[in-house]
Amino acid sequence: MGFNYDEFFSSVSKIMKKSVIRELLKLTEKPEIISFAGGLPAPETFPVNDLIPIINKLIEREGAKILQYGATEGYGELRKLLTERISKQMKMPLTVNNLLVVSASQQALDIVGKIFIDPGDKIITERPSYLGGLSAFNSYKANIIGVTLEDDGICIKELEETLDTLYNKRAERIKFFYTIPDFQNPAGVTTSLEKRKKIVELANKYDFLIIEDLPYRELRYEGVTLPTLYELDGGKRVISLYTFSKIFCPGLRLGWIVAPEEVINKVIIAKQAMDLCTPPFNQAIAAAYIKEGLLEERIRKNIEIYSKKRKFMLEILDKYLGGIEEVKWTKPEGGLFLWMTLPDYIDCDELFYKAIENNVAYVIGSAFYPEYPEKNHFRMNFSYPSFDQIEEGVKRLSKVIKDSIK
Ligand code: PMP
Repeated sequence: MGFNYDEFFSSVSKIMKKSVIRELLKLTEKPEIISFAGGLPAPETFPVNDLIPIINKLIEREGAKILQYGATEGYGELRKLLTERISKQMKMPLTVNNLLVVSASQQALDIVGKIFIDPGDKIITERPSYLGGLSAFNSYKANIIGVTLEDDGICIKELEETLDTLYNKRAERIKFFYTIPDFQNPAGVTTSLEKRKKIVELANKYDFLIIEDLPYRELRYEGVTLPTLYELDGGKRVISLYTFSKIFCPGLRLGWIVAPEEVINKVIIAKQAMDLCTPPFNQAIAAAYIKEGLLEERIRKNIEIYSKKRKFMLEILDKYLGGIEEVKWTKPEGGLFLWMTLPDYIDCDELFYKAIENNVAYVIGSAFYPEYPEKNHFRMNFSYPSFDQIEEGVKRLSKVIKDSIK
């Protein structure tokens, strides 16, 4: 007799959707396919040789300590180093009680969902937004409202109208606004200073929280660094999520949350039920790496590598698709992605299969919409492919696009 798990699975597990991206990525695995689909850092940025002596030394000298369970808040030394680093960057006097180490920002997103979202609670995100964030909030049964993302951040007019309708006409509220202000995933756009200030002003006016997700913040290739929302708000109603994944290496699964102490205390309790602590071994490696001054050097090198790839991809896109009026793409000042827009009669979900037939892949844009997906976009990653792959891949893609333009 077969066994039916359906009566055992929770209602939340039933609303969880299989990631479309994961399913489509399986199709991109053939070696002949040039993929712009993943969001992976370039493997040449991983400091393998620097880490061998660091890890050997750690194991010899502190093996018993770092193989033990650790504090939920984080490995003391790393927590201190990160607090100093962020305090300096933000020019704000943070204490270690404002910072907690997590198992990278995906865990932070889950924790945010866990501590703030009751089933049916409304939240606002940019549309499009990071798929992993949407999935995390969906799993706590959030009611996600998407507001259009423009070239300089969220559309403030639409945000104000949405808030006005909710608060003044329907007597409802939102719990938080989730944003990726620097080099957004998937669109690659950066929220302007003016919009950042306006968002903080609206959060105060309408009394909601802001979750700012900052995985790409330190990967800026041109322009000036803008203040975080945390700084603009003075550390009251903003929670900032950071990660080592794109500036060091994702395999260590390390990130950190910066927030008012009251929030950090809740995060500790939530995290205890998830994994007790982030691996002390990994945290000790990161602490030693920072102490030797290698992180700043690593970030400089990553910027050098990625800014060249970004520049090259923009040049190649211009070469093969420039001059076609209906085809547009964002010009990110940092990060790992750019966002393509095709004429609205082209369905990029369908075009994906044609791209695969031509041995090139992207991520369908529709996957990044909390609701009412737009189908004429896709995301391109420029950090992982080599220069040759960028040229050949864009050439293949341009053929597929040109063939579908009426
Ligand atoms: N937030 C955003 C916006 C991301 O793009 C990613 C990774 N692609 C994450 C969070 C999760 O990254 P990690 O868990 O590796 O820190």
